[in-house]
Amino acid sequence: MDLKTAEQRVHELHRLLNQYNHEYYVLDKPSVSDAEYDELMRELQALELEFPQVKTTDSPSLRIGGEPLEAFVKVQHTIPMLSLGNAFNEDDLRDFDRKVRQAVGENVSYVCELKIDGLAVSLRYENGVFIQGATRGDGTTGEDITANLKTIRSIPLKLQKPFTLEVRGEAFMPKRSFEALNKAREEQEEEPFANPRNAAAGSLRQLDPRIAASRNLDIFLYSIADLGETGVISHRDGLDLLDELGFKTNHERQHCKTIEEVIQYVEGWVGKRPDLPYDIDGIVIKVDSLQQQEELGFTAKSPRWAVAYKFPAEEVTTILRDIELSVGRTGVITPTAILDPVRVAGTTVKRASLHNEDLIREKDIKIGDHVVIKKAGDIIPEVVNVLEDMRTGTETEFKMPTECPACDSELVRIEGEVALRCVNPKCPAQIREGLIHFVSRNAMNIDGLGEKVITQLFQEQLIKDVADLYFLEREQLLSLERMGEKSVDNLLQAIEQSKENSLEKLLFGLGIRHVGAKAAKTIAQEFGTMDQLVQVQNHELEAINEIGEKMADAIVTYFDNEEVLELIEKLKRAEVNMEYKGPKRIKLDEVDSYFAGKTIVLTGKLEQLGRNEAKEKIEMLGGKVTGSVSKKTDLVVAGEDAGSKLTKAQELGIEIWDEEQLVKELTR
Ligand code: NAD
Repeated sequence: MDLKTAEQRVHELHRLLNQYNHEYYVLDKPSVSDAEYDELMRELQALELEFPQVKTTDSPSLRIGGEPLEAFVKVQHTIPMLSLGNAFNEDDLRDFDRKVRQAVGENVSYVCELKIDGLAVSLRYENGVFIQGATRGDGTTGEDITANLKTIRSIPLKLQKPFTLEVRGEAFMPKRSFEALNKAREEQEEEPFANPRNAAAGSLRQLDPRIAASRNLDIFLYSIADLGETGVISHRDGLDLLDELGFKTNHERQHCKTIEEVIQYVEGWVGKRPDLPYDIDGIVIKVDSLQQQEELGFTAKSPRWAVAYKFPAEEVTTILRDIELSVGRTGVITPTAILDPVRVAGTTVKRASLHNEDLIREKDIKIGDHVVIKKAGDIIPEVVNVLEDMRTGTETEFKMPTECPACDSELVRIEGEVALRCVNPKCPAQIREGLIHFVSRNAMNIDGLGEKVITQLFQEQLIKDVADLYFLEREQLLSLERMGEKSVDNLLQAIEQSKENSLEKLLFGLGIRHVGAKAAKTIAQEFGTMDQLVQVQNHELEAINEIGEKMADAIVTYFDNEEVLELIEKLKRAEVNMEYKGPKRIKLDEVDSYFAGKTIVLTGKLEQLGRNEAKEKIEMLGGKVTGSVSKKTDLVVAGEDAGSKLTKAQELGIEIWDEEQLVKELTR
């Protein structure tokens, strides 16, 4: 390759890697796999080695992580939070070992740890009390996520000893929590997370700690940043001390005396990895002696005394036998690949979602093709690509039907959406899915009404809509397959009980487009009764913070329909509760505060209060604190050294206060 071509390629690699970094670290939404990203990074590093003149100071090969988000208070790390060098095979590991021994001599041993696939966090304790937790951010500056971290039960708020120290570890989402979360998100028509790592990062970077609390996160601690007077002289002892202090560490770690032992440990985990209840993406190998660690030191990006071995993504080949179509609750038609059963990452895979027609075209998938399968985030099976060389000519093109496979009505493609939809409100497949949704846990929560029973009831025409569930007779249920006296009694009791549910459960269960469980709760809380809701107007809904135009429209359109009103009357006749029973929402106009209903931006250094405290206080008084100044901002509070946000506020003519004025108003 000549220099000019190298420059062009490096330029392109910068662009791609910067884009992927942003998607991964800032948006928590990667568009390519880690293996693909690592491959591009390796290509860049190789080019920079071959043509040193192309290496710039802003090269992605020198950067750690992503910028901290504006919305959070920033935390300066006293000791930088670094990345790790990578090893992808045995040779890379031996290379690492050779360099270590060259630097510190032959008397070296290593500690191998699982590389937990989550996000690095730093926890600060003063006199044994947890005071601050932060993300890694760009390595020097992270985000203050203390409130979110406090929701992780395995983080001790108080240590066994009154130490002042900073510890580091990996926060993660266990596989089970991830599966449950994505299932719930799909039910609510929210986009599922790509993998547990992104779900964990997304959960910890929420402004509302209640969200993090609901996500069942966990943590393993792996180092003490400032060992100070602790007397620890090896990494192993450091981990033991973490245990003693009450932290959760990972006990799969192993002390290895030679690189051969390290390689054995690594190989052992390739097979055992799928059985772990959490995701790992490799093994971290660290020099055990702290004195040797010190001698080895750091590069700009990572310590020289550690390396991360990365597992290759497991991919297998199988045959795609057919493509099945299913009709979802909202009429979306989803194609699913039916595969010859094959084992991948620990389980047997028989089906893989193909999402939509565009994806089938893009990947040029034909029925009968040999396809490569992997599990996204090691969980959700997906078709990676087709092996075109294996084609025999007998493969057949798949055509999306123009009619609904369940009701034959014509399918439509709604503008701006990739999916095809059946828009017939009487489509039996949609009604069936709607019924399944209605009885699900976050909705009316009727135990004993699984998919099979619903399908039977529906096929026997015992129920045509959700209200019919409340008019089912004992005899009718007894006539169903595999329904004994006891299960019928239990079911009837569960149906009866569900009548008492608070309004939000019913509201969510009705399956109004764009209305997830959380929005249903907000709306129920705000309007109180179904009768109020039936008459609600767009502007009343949009006045609520969390509700946008699209959702407001969907709600008003939903209730502006004779059939819906009849359904609600029928539910009333069945004595289903139509009122909100939970705690009342504080109405903004009832709060006597300057901040109620206002959008406020805090910038610069707040000396007396600190940003977090100021934010909390403003929110208690009904204000909303956001990270960036726009026309919607009502007030900017500018502390010491305020910069571009203050200038912008001045340009836009927004009201500006200093800290003193804020404190005065808060303590009024
Ligand atoms: P890294 O993941 O290669 O390794 C460093 C991190 O490992 C540490 O910060 C820590 O969070 C973690 N870790 C887990 N267990 C550990 C243990 N026992 N001891 C020490 N550390 C442990 O480096 P990185 O800088 O966090 O991320 C870079 C990687 O992220 C890339 O190699 C790529 O795989 C992925 N990435 C992917 C995309 C994408 O678009 N898919 C984009 C950017 C980055």
